[in-house]
Amino acid sequence: MSKEDIAAQRATEWREALRKEKKNKDRIEIERVKMRELDPEYRITNNEEVNCGLTTEQALREASRCLDCPDPQCMQGCPVNIFIPTFIKNIERGEFLEAAKTLKMTSALPAVCGRVCPQEKQCESKCFYKLKLGKEPVAIGYLERFAADYERESGKMALPEIKEKNGIKIAVVGSGPAGLSFAGEMAKAGYSVTVFEALHEIGGVLKYGIPEFRLPNSIVDVEINNLRAMGVEFIADCIVGKTISYDDIHEMGFKGIFVASGAGLPRFMNIPGENLIGVMSSNEYLTRVNLMCAAQDDSDTPVIKGKRVAVIGGGNTAMDSVRTAKRVGAERAMIIYRRGEDEMPARREEIHHAKQEGVEFLTLHNPIEYLGNEKGKVTAVRLQKMQLGEPDASGRRSPEPIPGAIETIEVDEVIVSVGVSPNPLIPNAIKGLEISKKGTIIVNEETMRSDLNDLYAGGDIVRGGATVILAMGDGRRAAKAMNEAIRNNKL
Ligand SMILES: Cc1cc2nc3c(=O)[nH]c(=O)nc-3n(C[C@H](O)[C@H](O)[C@H](O)COP(=O)(O)OP(=O)(O)OC[C@H]3O[C@@H](n4cnc5c(N)ncnc54)[C@H](O)[C@@H]3O)c2cc1C
Repeated sequence: MSKEDIAAQRATEWREALRKEKKNKDRIEIERVKMRELDPEYRITNNEEVNCGLTTEQALREASRCLDCPDPQCMQGCPVNIFIPTFIKNIERGEFLEAAKTLKMTSALPAVCGRVCPQEKQCESKCFYKLKLGKEPVAIGYLERFAADYERESGKMALPEIKEKNGIKIAVVGSGPAGLSFAGEMAKAGYSVTVFEALHEIGGVLKYGIPEFRLPNSIVDVEINNLRAMGVEFIADCIVGKTISYDDIHEMGFKGIFVASGAGLPRFMNIPGENLIGVMSSNEYLTRVNLMCAAQDDSDTPVIKGKRVAVIGGGNTAMDSVRTAKRVGAERAMIIYRRGEDEMPARREEIHHAKQEGVEFLTLHNPIEYLGNEKGKVTAVRLQKMQLGEPDASGRRSPEPIPGAIETIEVDEVIVSVGVSPNPLIPNAIKGLEISKKGTIIVNEETMRSDLNDLYAGGDIVRGGATVILAMGDGRRAAKAMNEAIRNNKL
């Protein structure tokens, strides 16, 4: 169905809803659904997914809250403009497979986005309930997950329509959400797409960063296998810029290249003691635990299983690290963050879950030094206590040290999670590619094209650390622009 058909259908439905105004009054009295979650004491003993999804009854009831607004602001809040009221009304009518189909028109990974997107800052923040009624928004993310899971579990996963192969080869560097979304769109348009991935697993941060208890790998694998079924080829263990070069890609006959190599370079704070044994980045920690099974007793390269673990930072990566540490056996797992809880960039749900799991929050504390023993192992962290001052450029109140207020706490492991930068390998390996001071690839924001005619880029390599849905949106826009450039003989 075309966008126009969907819009027309929605308009008809809305007119019907208006005629039934009383029904809308009933709708707004319904309370937002609560998703069942695993009990905290049980879940910290394993890696099982914490959120259990909605039952069919819950989904039908929640879908019936949606007012199907004539000018749905929720769609404006979604970086890939999912037809939100349409898919929710599909659910309300019990047409769950149709709902999944609607989602897939604009989102390559609905089961993933339904789980990890910050809906509270995006679509749900623009919901009529929230903006105009001061009530809890429709649980758009939960419903997205419901429809995608229903389709997967039904065994009736439909592949999108794929145009006849046009014989044109396109290369993708990196298999995270940006690369996957781009690959899917180009495969649909008839191109022969090959994705080169540096690691042995396909999926980027979805696999090596976000833990199983938030996003099971089996869900990501289904989406990847769908792309395989659409003809996308994946080549793992291939580092572009080392294993093969940009020139090699041209020689292999690829007409266009989409770089989606992410921002996998961890940042540190450059404070004394960061080289002590037991101090590591969250990238290293999570990759080793998630991708290399380093927390298992029989691992050849075991990760340190600290009993008193300090995680420095307040983002999703910090929450994932501290909750992983808890599951790996930490007795005391702490978040150390220099601002207050309101300023934390992590999803509220993650903060809530971490607290339920017994994680301690030392907000308004900033590490200034790590102390170690004679064997070079970390034993303690010195913390400067902070207070909040005026808002800074990010709009958040900036942390200021309280003179003389210093505290030392014992730790045997520190995980530093204070941000990431793009890996310089690709930018350095491609001559003439325009790079920002932050090391990101500079592109035209509409087309995602770089200063090199055949090189497009998107996701974290362009934005620095961002989100799954923004990376996917970039992939979609880049595919549309590259397809147009090829069709118009501009590439
Ligand atoms: C722990 C963690 C938790 C997060 N939680 C959330 C969340 O809850 N919600 C959310 O929306 N976002 C979250 N994010 C952010 C989100 O995952 C990223 O913004 C998103 O994955 C970026 O996608 P990408 O495709 O640009 O890059 P990535 O997912 O980083 O994928 C890049 C891929 O490129 C590969 N690569 C790199 N260099 C090369 C090369 N030279 N050759 C070949 N391959 C290469 C890498 O190995 C990697 O697989 C989280 C991030 C982390 C680290």
